Amino acid sequence: MEYQALFLKINNSLKGFQDSGQVANYIPELAKVDANKFGVHLTTIDHKQAGFGDDNEKFSIQSIAKVLALTLAYTFEDEILFKRVGVEPSGTPFNSLYLLETDQGIPRNPLINAGAIVVCDVLMSHLKNPKADFLKFVQTVSGNSAISYCERIVTSEKSCGYRNMALVNLMKTFGNIKNKIDDVMDFYFNLCSIQMTCNELSKTFLFLANDGFCPVSNKVILSPSKSKRINSVMQSCGFYDEAGEFSFKVGLPGKSGVGGGIVAVHPGKYSIAVWSPKLNKKGNSNKGIAFLERFTTETDTSIF
Ligand code: GLU
Repeated sequence: MEYQALFLKINNSLKGFQDSGQVANYIPELAKVDANKFGVHLTTIDHKQAGFGDDNEKFSIQSIAKVLALTLAYTFEDEILFKRVGVEPSGTPFNSLYLLETDQGIPRNPLINAGAIVVCDVLMSHLKNPKADFLKFVQTVSGNSAISYCERIVTSEKSCGYRNMALVNLMKTFGNIKNKIDDVMDFYFNLCSIQMTCNELSKTFLFLANDGFCPVSNKVILSPSKSKRINSVMQSCGFYDEAGEFSFKVGLPGKSGVGGGIVAVHPGKYSIAVWSPKLNKKGNSNKGIAFLERFTTETDTSIF
């Protein structure tokens, strides 16, 4: 079946789906998003495309951008990076302080808030103009110079980012933050504010489906080995304390964000992005997971 027709079929099959989720409301700007939006877009490494619904509407990709920050930091630091941040699933919520105390300020992985804050700190030590240089990197990987930060979301997150400030302060006491806290957090909040459409997001992650080579920009972004490792971190840590369940249901490496987006990658085949703002209790898009579960079932493309 054509992907387009399949999207329609899956969407119809989800008509009775009772979505008890809630739009993220701890960030005031995210609370304003229309809860009923839904988009999906698939891009294959052999240049096939299919989209459905609101797949050309921008949304806040939030934590999904953490994978791109990790990618760039990994190119600078190689394996040394993992002395400052682990690669184990945390089993705790995305913004948890809990394990940091026992782990001496070393976050369990780079895809929870604490880990991404350390990655931002690492990037700040390598980049001359961190925000501008990082955005340029994202624009290159996405093949789209119009990708940008969203000032409104940055301001909104800063107004209520108490937990994130607690995380960075705690890590500073353990010596795992080298730059000025306010600068690191300004960079972190900008990272989270990046906006993309499902269409753009699926293209941006195509390099991870293609052994690190970006077919959009025709550039090597990562070596095949590093690309494999980023996928492995997404597989085990991409969904906060629901990573096991996503793996169980969908069977692809992926990453979610509290804006309701999910991107998932099938190495050797495709990258797919979905957006549905209502989140379950773990902070992952309810309908997004349900849709991807049916998609990998119908196409028989779980990696397992
Ligand atoms: N900007 C969000 C925060 O720091 C990111 C959360 C997420 O998408 O996991 O809380």
